[in-house]
This record gives sequence, C-alpha cells and structure tokens, in this order.
Amino acid sequence: MSTRWLLRGAEVITCDPDSADMSRADVLIENGVIVAIGPHLRADDCRVLELDGKIVMPGFIDTHRHTWQTPLRALGGDWTVMDYLAAVRVKLAPAFRPNDIYAGNLAGALEALDAGITTLVDYSHCIESPEHAEAALQALEDAGIRALFSYGYAAGPQQSPAFPTLESRIQDARRLRTTRLASDARLVRMGIALTEMQIPWESSRAEIRSARELNVPLTAHCSAWPTAGPSEVQRMAAEGLLGPDVLFVHCTRSSDEDLKRIADSGGSIAVTPESELQMGMGFPVTGRALRNRVRTTLGCDVVSSNGGDLFTAMRLALQVERGQANARAGLPRALELKAAQLLQMVTLDAAEAIGLGRVTGSLRPGKDADLLVLSADALNMTPLNRPRDAVVMQAHAGNVESVMVRGRLLKHRGALLDVDLPAVRRKVSEARDAVLERVGGTAMLLRDRAELDKHWDTGGGLAKGDM
Ligand SMILES: [Zn+2]
Repeated sequence: MSTRWLLRGAEVITCDPDSADMSRADVLIENGVIVAIGPHLRADDCRVLELDGKIVMPGFIDTHRHTWQTPLRALGGDWTVMDYLAAVRVKLAPAFRPNDIYAGNLAGALEALDAGITTLVDYSHCIESPEHAEAALQALEDAGIRALFSYGYAAGPQQSPAFPTLESRIQDARRLRTTRLASDARLVRMGIALTEMQIPWESSRAEIRSARELNVPLTAHCSAWPTAGPSEVQRMAAEGLLGPDVLFVHCTRSSDEDLKRIADSGGSIAVTPESELQMGMGFPVTGRALRNRVRTTLGCDVVSSNGGDLFTAMRLALQVERGQANARAGLPRALELKAAQLLQMVTLDAAEAIGLGRVTGSLRPGKDADLLVLSADALNMTPLNRPRDAVVMQAHAGNVESVMVRGRLLKHRGALLDVDLPAVRRKVSEARDAVLERVGGTAMLLRDRAELDKHWDTGGGLAKGDM
C-alpha cells in the first residue's frame, strides 16, 4: 500500500484554532502524517480519494468507554445505576474470561471505528488476571484503533486468585508498562483507571500514586452520586494529587468549587450524557464545567445500556443543556452553548485531555492522519450549510464513509476493511452466551440487587465504611 494519500476536493473541517475550515480543499498525507492542507495540492505517486460532496474532519475521541461490556449490549436498557452495579459489576464481571474480554474489546473497538471514533479511552475495569489484561490490550491492537488502555484496578465482589491484593494488581500494571506498553509512541498507550474512589481512600491514594510512578494518565469515576464527607476532588486537592494528567468521569454532582479545582489543576472531565441521564447520576455537568473553564469531553460509557456513537452523545449533551438553561430563562434570548462547541469536545479538547493534543484531535500539518470522511451529499446533510453545525445537528454514524488512523485506511465506502465481520459477530455472541450461562441467565442478573442496597445507601449516598 502506498504511504502517500491525497484526499481531494472535500469540505475540510479542521477543528484546529490555527487552521480555518476550507471548501474544496485537499489533504496530503505521508507516512501516516498530515503534511499539507489546502486547495489544489500537487502530489505524485500517491493514492487519491476524490471527495467531492464529502466532509473530511478529525476522527472522534471517546474519552470514556468500558469496551469489555460489548457482549452485554442493551441488556441494561432499563437499569438504574444501582441495577447496573448489581448486574454488571457484581454479577457479570466475574463471569468474564480472557477470551470474552477479547471479544468484547474487539467488537467494541470496531463498532467505535465504524462510527468515526479513531481514539478510545478504554476504562478497562474487568481485569481479573494478567491474561484478562493481555486479552483486552490485544483486541485494541488488533482493531487498529488508537487507544488509551486504562488499566482498571477495580476488583470484583471477591478478590480473584490471580490478584489477591491491590498491590498485586499494581504489580501487573507495572509489568505491562515495562513490557508491551513501555512505549508512548504506539497507537495503544497505557493509562490507569481508578477503582471508585474513597472505598477506602487509602487504596485510591495508592492507585493514584501508581499512575504517577508509571508516568501515565489516570481516569476516575467521580461524584456521580451524593457522598457524605469530602468529595474525591477535595481529597485529592488536600493531598496535592490533582493534575493535568487526571480525567474525571461524570462529576454530575461536583460542586462549582470542585470544578474550579479541576480547572486550576489542568485536569479534564468526561461527560457521558446518555448513561448519566438514564441511570440517575444527575444532569450532565457540561454547562457548569464549561462555565468553570474545565476542559470538557464526551464518552459513550456503556453499550450494555446505551448507544456507542458520539453523534448521539454530542446532540444529547447539547440539547439537555439547552433544555435546562431554557427552563431557567423562560423564553431564552439566545442559546449559550453553541453546536460547534460540541465538535471541539469530541476532537481537540479530548485529545488534549489525554495528553495527545500534539498528535491527534485536529487536522493540521505535522499531526497524525486520524480522520473521517462524512457523506455530506447524503439526504440528511443536503444542502450543506454551516458544516460544523450540520455535523453536530444532522449527521449520524451511518454517514461515516471512511476512517483513517495514523494514515491507515480502516473503513472505506461504508465498510470496515480487513475485518472478518462474521467471525467478530460470532465471537461476541459466543461471549454473551458463555457469560450469561455462567451467571445462570438474564433472570439472575438483578437477584443480588437487595444485597447491594445494604452496602449502598441510594438515598443519601455511600454508607461510610461499608465497602
Ligand atoms: Zn464508566
């Protein structure tokens, strides 16, 4: 395959502050890197994609997804967060074996690519042995996606034989960081995903310190339900543990003071509007986070409950924010949150949130060619007015025609390339069957829900000291 590409005659949305959008422009790519963007570029000896009527833009970045849950698709369409914890975290997670994790991560990463997501923050919190970790990582690499493989320290209801202690999990993360994930130049890089914080706090502190020791970004669920006592952000601030390498997730119940603390530290937030709205985590923090100058990004979270594409997440985040603001205002004079802001949240802002701002997230010479081609000539995009707004307000995953990661074409003319789709479907379905069989079927999923309630006080927050 040629290592030079010329994408010709497209509507180019750069999402880059130093590079304006262009009509009928070309993008030249060499060895995976964008070398020029402009009209009538001349280049010999390259593969040409004629893109008249198409949009070329940066690939999307999903900053929060538990990719391993793909075999559980839609099982939790009616679940609250407590149902989810009882069914998935307590019951189903321990039933996943390494090949099930592989199937979930492969199918999930391919689903993401298919929807124009070129970078994934995989919050991989079902690692019950070194083999689970290897399987999750292998699937991301096999899919060809760019990813932050965020090694999750969360344990199931019982400690697994492979990892009897938190220290043994940290040791395994260390093993990966010094072997397969030693390089930060590869498409799949290492991160750390924290166990729910403060359970107990000493463990959270050890997990945070391990990420710093390994010199990798960390991500953590945060303030998604009311808690007694100091918040996670307050605790971290008090011990000097905040930083630009922290990506908090949800923060639906964070105070404005906590949001300011995150902003001042250079940290970021992943909002997952669909799961937050469904499960009772409160309203997405989008507007408050932006007003407090926090870098704000979007994620799909769990396809075990909701959708796995960022078009839906963008529109949901935008309109629920507007709905709340409009309800406060009565008859609004103007809409504060603009559609195009959502596009920044899933591209450049997301790249910066995970330390990849110089590599991906916008189209500019010198950055890797992580991009997607959208069919702006589809009926739902025609006629094309205000391209950025059209992408946010009108487009859907079915409009993603082509996808490139570091110059490698992974989807073209609407189809994933070099993927044995029947085999992927078979694998992920078999994983679903195996996992459900091990737990005794879907009827058993919420059986321990009452048991969980003893540990979690859904009305007033975490029962201190119980977990
Ligand atoms: Zn999550």
